[in-house]
Amino acid sequence: MALHEKNAVRGFFKEAVYASSDLTISAPKYKFPGAEMDPRHAYAIVSDEMLLDGNSRQNLATFCQTWVEPEVHQIMDLTIDKNMIDKDEYPQTAEIENRCVHMLADLWNSPDASNTIGCSTTGSSEAAMLGGLALKWQWRNRRKKEGKDTSKPNIITGAVQICWHKFARYFDVEIRELPLSPDKLTLNPDDVAAACDENTIGVVPTFGVTFTCMYEDVKAISDRLDKLQKEKGLDIPMHVDAASGGFIAPFVNPEIVWDFRIPRVKSINGSGHKYGLSPLGVGWVIWRDRTDLPEDLIFYVDYLGGNMPTFALNFSRPGGQIITQYYNFIRLGRSGYKKVQEAALGHAQYIADEIEKLGMFTLFYNGRGGLPGASWKMKDGIKPGFTLYDLADRLRMRGWQVPAYPLPAHMQDVVIQRILVRHGFSRDMATLFINDVKREIEYFKNHPVSSSATQKESGGYHH
Ligand SMILES: *Cc1c(COP(=O)(O)O)cnc(C)c1O
Repeated sequence: MALHEKNAVRGFFKEAVYASSDLTISAPKYKFPGAEMDPRHAYAIVSDEMLLDGNSRQNLATFCQTWVEPEVHQIMDLTIDKNMIDKDEYPQTAEIENRCVHMLADLWNSPDASNTIGCSTTGSSEAAMLGGLALKWQWRNRRKKEGKDTSKPNIITGAVQICWHKFARYFDVEIRELPLSPDKLTLNPDDVAAACDENTIGVVPTFGVTFTCMYEDVKAISDRLDKLQKEKGLDIPMHVDAASGGFIAPFVNPEIVWDFRIPRVKSINGSGHKYGLSPLGVGWVIWRDRTDLPEDLIFYVDYLGGNMPTFALNFSRPGGQIITQYYNFIRLGRSGYKKVQEAALGHAQYIADEIEKLGMFTLFYNGRGGLPGASWKMKDGIKPGFTLYDLADRLRMRGWQVPAYPLPAHMQDVVIQRILVRHGFSRDMATLFINDVKREIEYFKNHPVSSSATQKESGGYHH
C-alpha cells in the first residue's frame, strides 16, 4: 500500500477531528467495535458525552468531594498505576495508608493510637460492612463460648444510610431501625436500650445523619447502654458511622464527645472522599484496639518479606485516593481542615438564613450544630403555587441539583429540600444560588403549577 493510502486509512493526523469519518457517524454503543479509532477521535467522543452529565460543582445534593487542589490532580496522575493491595511492590503506598490509619486514630482520640488497627476502603459503605462484620464475629464468638444460640443476630440503628441495610441483608443480620418522629429526630437513648437484647451485635449511631445533617448523641446512647449493662448484664458495643461528621466535628466542635473517648465505641468509619477532601474512592474504618477486630477476619499478605494484616472486601484497588488523603492531612493539618470546614458551614448558614428570609419556608436544619448543609420545608398552610419538587426542577434548569425528598419511615409526609456545602463552594456561589431561588419563586408567581399546599409523596431522591 502506498504511503498516502495508509494515511488515508488511518486518517491524516492533521485531519479536523470533528470532520473525521469517526465523528461524522454515531459512535459504537452496544456492539463491541471491530476496528481501532484515532485516540483524538475517541477522546473527543468520550469527553463530549461527559458534557451531558450534571456540573458537579453545582451538585448541592452530594456529600462527596467535587473539587480538589491542582496538586491532588498531579498526585492522582502520579499514582495511577499503584495497586494498594500489592504491599510488596508498593511498600510506600502501604506505609502511607498505615500513617493515615494512625492519624485518624489520633484524630478520633484512640486511647492508644499506636495499638490501633484499621484500613482504607472504597468508601464508608465498605467500611461499614467491615465494622459490622467485626461486631457480628465478636458477638458470635462470645455466644459460642457461652454455648448459646448464634442464629439470630440483630443490629440497632436510627435512620441510617442504605449501606447498613445492605450490611444487614448481605450478612444476614436483622436490622432494627428505630424510626424518626417529630420530637425524636435522632436516636433516642431509651428507645435504643429497649430495643437491645442478648442477640444485639451492636448499636450504630450516625454522626451526621444523611437525611437531616444532625449528629446523633453518641455519648448519651453510650451512657444509657452503661445503665442497661448494670440493669440486665448486657454489654453492647457501638460502631459510629461518622461518614461525614468524622471529618467535621474533630476540627470544628472538638468538645463533642462521640469518638474513642467513649470506651463503648469499638470502631468508627469515615468517608475520605466526603469531608476528608480526597477524590472519590476512599473511606476508612478504624478499631479502637487490635482486640476489637477478630483475628479470624484478618488475612495476611506479603510485605517486604514479612506479613501484613489486611481486612477488606476488595483485592486490587487504586492507591491514589489514599495517597492524596495523606497529602491532605499533611497539607492542611488540624487548622487547615478547621478553616475549610468552617468556611463550608458559614456558606450553609448564610443560605439557611437567606432561605428563611423568603418567608415561605420553615428551616428544618439551619446549618448549625451538624454538617455543613441546610434544609427546609414549605411553611404549613401556605399555597405558593408550587411544590419543593417543582422548585428543584426549575433550579435544575440553571444547573443546580437541590433534591427534595420525603423524610424516612414514620415521617414520610414531611418533604424537605436540602443543600450540602463542600470545599469548592464560595460565598459568591451561595449568592448566585439564592438569586436563582428568588428568580424561580418569582417565576412561579406568574406560572403557578399547583395550588396544593401539600407536597407530592414520591419522586424525591437524595444521597
Ligand atoms: C455517605 C454515607 C455512607 C456511605 O458512604 P460512601 O462513602 O458513599 O460509601 C454511609 N453512612 C453515612 C452516614 C453517609 O453519609
